[in-house]
Amino acid sequence: MGSPLPSIPTAKGPRGHGVPTLLAREGEHTVNIEKIHFVGAGPGDAELITVKGARLLKEADVIVYAGSLVDRELVRTYAPDARVFDSAGMTLEETTTALSQAALNGKKAVRLHTGDPSIYGAIQEQMVELDLLGLEYEVVPGVTSAFAAAATLKQELTLPEVSQTVIITRLAGRTPVPDRERLSEIARIGATLVVYLSVSMIEKVVAELLRGAYTPSTRVAVVAKASWPDEQVVEGTLADIAGKVKEAGIAKQALILVGDVLRARVEGMKAKSLLYDKGFTHGCREGIVT
Ligand code: SAH
Repeated sequence: MGSPLPSIPTAKGPRGHGVPTLLAREGEHTVNIEKIHFVGAGPGDAELITVKGARLLKEADVIVYAGSLVDRELVRTYAPDARVFDSAGMTLEETTTALSQAALNGKKAVRLHTGDPSIYGAIQEQMVELDLLGLEYEVVPGVTSAFAAAATLKQELTLPEVSQTVIITRLAGRTPVPDRERLSEIARIGATLVVYLSVSMIEKVVAELLRGAYTPSTRVAVVAKASWPDEQVVEGTLADIAGKVKEAGIAKQALILVGDVLRARVEGMKAKSLLYDKGFTHGCREGIVT
């Protein structure tokens, strides 16, 4: 890290496709410039990375990842010999330098992101930097924590006649949220909500949600560290969830799931899906008329 990057042509092709494939270095030998991979690590459990993500980690010479969020075990398991950078204390320039220098030296670099890189992953700005350098990259998706939390709860997020929409959102923190996406506005829809990055402001989440379609009796589940060995689940209603969350000492790395789909956990289902109904005909099966 730190040494200046060799000058290379700027990108002209489609984004992420880079331009140079071979770079002559100091007139001695040529190296293949490697493609950089942004990989979703999944929510925590080392087995919840994709097969492709695990392969790329195994092959990686250099890994940049947020040590505070991604399980270190995952990196130790799949890439014991790679050079590892913890992005927690690094700037965008520094992570870009670590990744691009590796790629330019013919080394395989992985930028490992918690969950899925496209959700609150700050990958766009990193890709813009790589575009400016004309470097190739690819994004490998991962299991976002919303789905790990649903799995922990053993809860379908889309129930017939209850909600067929899932909204991923957050409260504004230091990152602002556009006005039209204020939680109280989104709450008017009454869909299943998965609120990221907001558990430390649980009282505010509750207040905003109550200004929308939800009521004090709307069910809420908070899942902390979903899929980790020390995961925690707190369930309640909008009336009592804030107190329960404080009591459990949950202040970070948690999701707040809200909506009437959670009512099925205590009251049973309203309606079953038609997909497996014996009278329902679809492309793969004739319904039985009784
Ligand atoms: N890209 C990640 C989200 C990064 S933002 C993803 O797809 O999951 C970080 C926020 O994600 C945390 O504040 C928390 O709200 C949520 N989060 C990440 N991992 C989690 C986990 N294992 N359990 C619960 N919430 C998690």
